[in-house]
Amino acid sequence: MFIIDGHCDAISKLLMNQRADFYDSSILDVTLPRLQAANIKLQCFAIYIPRAFSMTEFQAILMSVDLYEQRILNDPHMMPIHNQTDMNSLLSGSQIGAFLTLEGVDGIMGNFMYLRILYRLGVRAVGLTWNHANWAADGIGEPRGGGLTIIGKQFVKECEKLGILIDVSHLSEAGFWDVAAIAQKPFYASHSNVFDICQHPRNLKKDQILEIIRVGGCIGLTFVPFFVSMNKPVMIQDLLKHIDYICECGGTDHLTFGSDFDGIDEWIVELEHPGQYVNLQNMLLQYYDEEDVEKWLFKNWFQYLHKNI
Ligand SMILES: [Zn+2]
Repeated sequence: MFIIDGHCDAISKLLMNQRADFYDSSILDVTLPRLQAANIKLQCFAIYIPRAFSMTEFQAILMSVDLYEQRILNDPHMMPIHNQTDMNSLLSGSQIGAFLTLEGVDGIMGNFMYLRILYRLGVRAVGLTWNHANWAADGIGEPRGGGLTIIGKQFVKECEKLGILIDVSHLSEAGFWDVAAIAQKPFYASHSNVFDICQHPRNLKKDQILEIIRVGGCIGLTFVPFFVSMNKPVMIQDLLKHIDYICECGGTDHLTFGSDFDGIDEWIVELEHPGQYVNLQNMLLQYYDEEDVEKWLFKNWFQYLHKNI
């Protein structure tokens, strides 16, 4: 069974650690041998600039794109995914697709020229914020809980005009509803779970889940242990409640996964890197029809991207 993973921070680790290597699992969770072992057909790679990084933000974004090209795409087993044609050739070929996203638009500094350049460099999805506020919006960790700024709203429109998808994971609740009010295209949450199951602010409330389903977006359940369960250790089975909840909301055709590998330093037991996706697949097959499992691991993501990029 093919798998698509909607979020990882491998590029950020390449940026922060000179020794990180796409072939070596001593630093990275996401390595080529593990993607191959798990039959991952498409991996989304996020550009995320940690606050401590000593470089102007846009320069750091450019450096991230360069690292992505030199250290990941450079491998002949990988192919960048920019459009529907690429999605079609991905299916007929043997390569692994790489989909470039930006997590937090701080470095664009409100200048849409930078966004257009990033589009030309391959960025096809954008999350407006990480947990804090920036010029575009408040993140979920910003106590004042504001939504999008005026320029943030214009930015969403510019993204849609270019063909860049909007990722609402990390965004404040008010920001989520601002996006919902102006977005013309289906938006998605790349790595968030269900708030009613695990009361972490990064998780989605029921009305948010229903809205993503209504607009035809995707919800990527994530493997960050404290977004899955308050009890430790967190087991793969703990994801079942989140899956059932989304299905009960009518989301069978919108449920996907976004691991957050390389963005975490605690893991679900036996789901600690992409190579262990097979453990999730086997667990799911014990409880659900193969047809549903294939939707969640592959088809829902594939169809969403195929239709919307
Ligand atoms: Zn994140």
